Amino acid sequence: LAVIVQKYGGTSVGSLNRIEAVAENIIKTRQQGHQVVAVLSAMSGETNRLLAMAHSLDKQPSSRELDMLLSTGEQTSIALLAIALIQRGYSAVSLLAHQVGIYTDNHFGRARIKNIETKRLLQSLEQEQIVLVAGFQGVDSERNITTLGRGGSDTSAVAIAAALGASECQIFTDVDGIYNADPRIEPLARKIDFISFDEMLAMASLGAKVLHNRSVEYAMKHNLPIRVLSSFNQGEGTKVINKNDHDMPVNRQSVTSIVHHQHEIMLTITRANSSLPIIEICKILEENNIEIDMKNQVSHGVKQNSFCFTLHKNDQINALAILKLAPQINNTDEIKITEDVAKLSIVGYELKSQTGLADIIHTTLAQKNINIQLISSSDFYLSVIINEIDLIEGVHALHSIFNLALSD
Ligand code: ASP
Ligand code: MG
Repeated sequence: LAVIVQKYGGTSVGSLNRIEAVAENIIKTRQQGHQVVAVLSAMSGETNRLLAMAHSLDKQPSSRELDMLLSTGEQTSIALLAIALIQRGYSAVSLLAHQVGIYTDNHFGRARIKNIETKRLLQSLEQEQIVLVAGFQGVDSERNITTLGRGGSDTSAVAIAAALGASECQIFTDVDGIYNADPRIEPLARKIDFISFDEMLAMASLGAKVLHNRSVEYAMKHNLPIRVLSSFNQGEGTKVINKNDHDMPVNRQSVTSIVHHQHEIMLTITRANSSLPIIEICKILEENNIEIDMKNQVSHGVKQNSFCFTLHKNDQINALAILKLAPQINNTDEIKITEDVAKLSIVGYELKSQTGLADIIHTTLAQKNINIQLISSSDFYLSVIINEIDLIEGVHALHSIFNLALSD
């Protein structure tokens, strides 16, 4: 029997009715002759509810205890699903990370999976059980419970699929696949049938919320295809595969999607004399769990030693507090905050060899009077920072200029 690893997200298990629907879906997979390991998220809203309770007791709750608390959401959903399956006459067992042996490092709130034991999983499968594993959690070498970061259940599922040697990892969610722009703001967005790991990783890192970016990194490393599917409707979904996979359509356009990320701010740090240890400052913020992006040396000003980067506006207060205390910053340095900006990106492949790409974007956005404040690129994306109010128009303009309404 082939093992299929499925992951069901928060909305897919968001109510008892939904949990029953997931039970039926798993039974269907089972009846097709597969063994099933299902990795679950917490019921939708639950992780936020737990987080809010902790924050109302302490603005900066202990990170160890926060992981202890947040991991309970997934415990509820796996147990409820096991109950629903057993009620339907199937043998099922729910397992927490420490029961499986999902070992991580000890970075609470953003732990990385180091190793997964397969013994317990295989034993249960051998006994014809449907195995339900709590996503998002792990255990460190001192047996503390850790969590993998928001959205981390995708990574749990991919890591389990890789450990079991499954042929793909199916991620069931509330959309029927990956779209070439956010369908909520781009009515002409189309579902993508196949996409490479590199492009998906760029999309996930640049703001597409469908997959946790570490899950894509993990899948890429193990060359394990991910299929993103709807748990509400039938369909083939989107398959994320190696760029050289024989399934990958030939003659794809080089720009494959438009991704955006809202609610960012831009920080510009200017220092009159010596050059700033940029990497050092980035490191301090990252060590404090603050994600920064679009790191740029600013060349258009009079003062040379300035650089800027973007971060989520929720991190603004924290970041400023950290920078004030940082030994690398002194009080003659100027920190300027630009609020209400957004990141607009094109994602594709072999973009570096596409001459004139930046020009097309400049011209297209300029025609709409959209001003580009920062630019950053790689072989798989080109991102610009613009005012948040221009975002929707910017998405439409780029989606149209790169013919994404027509592409496959
Ligand atoms: N329940 C966790 C969260 O909301 C993990 C997940 O759903 O993937 O972030
Ligand atoms: Mg998710």
